Parts: sequence; structure tokens; C-alpha cells
Amino acid sequence: MIKENLKTVHENISKACKRAGRNESEVTLISVSKTKPVEMLQEAYDYGERCFGENKVQELCKKYEVLPKDIAWHMIGHLQTNKVKQVVGKADYIHSVDSLHLAQAINKESEKKNLVTKILLEVNVAEEETKFGLHLADVKPLIQQMKDLHNICIKGLMTIAPYTEDPETNRQYFRDLHNLYVDISNENIDNVDMSVLSMGMTGDYEVAIEEGATMVRVGTGIFGARNYNKSE
Ligand SMILES: *Cc1c(COP(=O)(O)O)cnc(C)c1O
Repeated sequence: MIKENLKTVHENISKACKRAGRNESEVTLISVSKTKPVEMLQEAYDYGERCFGENKVQELCKKYEVLPKDIAWHMIGHLQTNKVKQVVGKADYIHSVDSLHLAQAINKESEKKNLVTKILLEVNVAEEETKFGLHLADVKPLIQQMKDLHNICIKGLMTIAPYTEDPETNRQYFRDLHNLYVDISNENIDNVDMSVLSMGMTGDYEVAIEEGATMVRVGTGIFGARNYNKSE
């Protein structure tokens, strides 16, 4: 089942790239494996997937220990500063940075471990009250405040678009984030290397690709619905 799903998702990515006149190699699929058992991740790995997304530090660390070391782990969930220590050095990317305080904590821990952590700034483009993330207007001023943090590298922007039955309703949010991404890229700021636009989930990744996404985060479309009651 997982392999068939992956085949379908890759076909859809390919078609969306064609429609947008983009090269398929510009888009990385992140298999969002939160709540799913390691056997399922292994199956996706065997199919060829190497990027996995988790939203809880503890779960990411557990899976990191038992699965192959050539996996790139993506921390996509809200991150508390007291958990930064555990995730720095394990996550290839942290997608969910939305404050100076958090960026400073990641920078400090990265300095201690003598590495540079790749981060994305999470933007709440639709300004949904229930979601984390910066407002569009706050992104550039925050980047200015982060420019002396040399043990993080700001690689791009991430958004979680509203849940919708009709992905077209999210197109404008993706477009707005892409515009900001291009705008920041043109400014050549220290420790900013804009190359990642993380947007699009199971319901809307094709539209996100048409609007410039370079990373799509697909969970349900690969692993099936999540059951939060049962501990898997
Ligand atoms: C769970 C999650 C996803 C995947 O959602 P699906 O709708 O299952 O594809 C993507 N991004 C983030 C940040 C998530 O928490």
C-alpha cells in the first residue's frame, strides 16, 4: 500500500512540475511519518525515500536511533526551546522556527556541537489564530535580528496552509509566500541562503508545486490516516 501511494505521489509531483514548467529535481518529497511505526517508515525507505518529517522531538529521536543513518530527518512541528538540545545534530532541517528566542537557542546549541543547523522560518500566511508562525510582514525584520547567529543558516520559508477541501483556495497563500521568498533571496543577507520553500501537504501539494514549492510534506497520502488514540 505504501509503495503504491508513493508511486502515485511521485507521479502527481511529476505532473505538477510539468504543468508549471519546472524540473522534477527541484522538488523534494518529505514523507511525514508522525505517529506511524518504524516498519512503515522502513517500507518507504526501501522504496527509496530518504527524507522523513516528524513533529515531536521525542518521536524523531527514537526513530533516528533505529532507522538507517542516511535518512534526513525534518523537524516540522512546533519546537520548544527546552527540546532544542535533543534535536540539534539529529534533524537535517528545522522547519518551524518562528521566534528570535528559538533561533538563539538553536544557534547556541549548534555552536556547542560545532555545527550549523539549517532552519526555515514558519509563516502563518493565512493568519489563522490557531496556528504558530510569523505574519508575512514580520519575517524580514526578524531575519535582520538573526544575521549575527552564525551557527544557524536560514535556508527558506515554510507554511502550513489552512485545511481545505478545495486546494485552489490555498493558491494565493502559496503565491504570497513565494513572493516573499524571492524578495528575501534578492537581498543577499548574511547567513541567509534562500533555497527552500516548504509548502503543500496531502490536500494541496500539487497547487503548492505550481506556485514554487521546493519541499512538499505529505503524510496521509503516503501512510494513510493517522490514529491519535491508538499508540502505534
Ligand atoms: C502532519 C503534517 C503534515 C502532513 O499532513 P498530511 O495532511 O497528512 O499530508 C505536513 N506538515 C506538517 C507541519 C504537519 O504537521
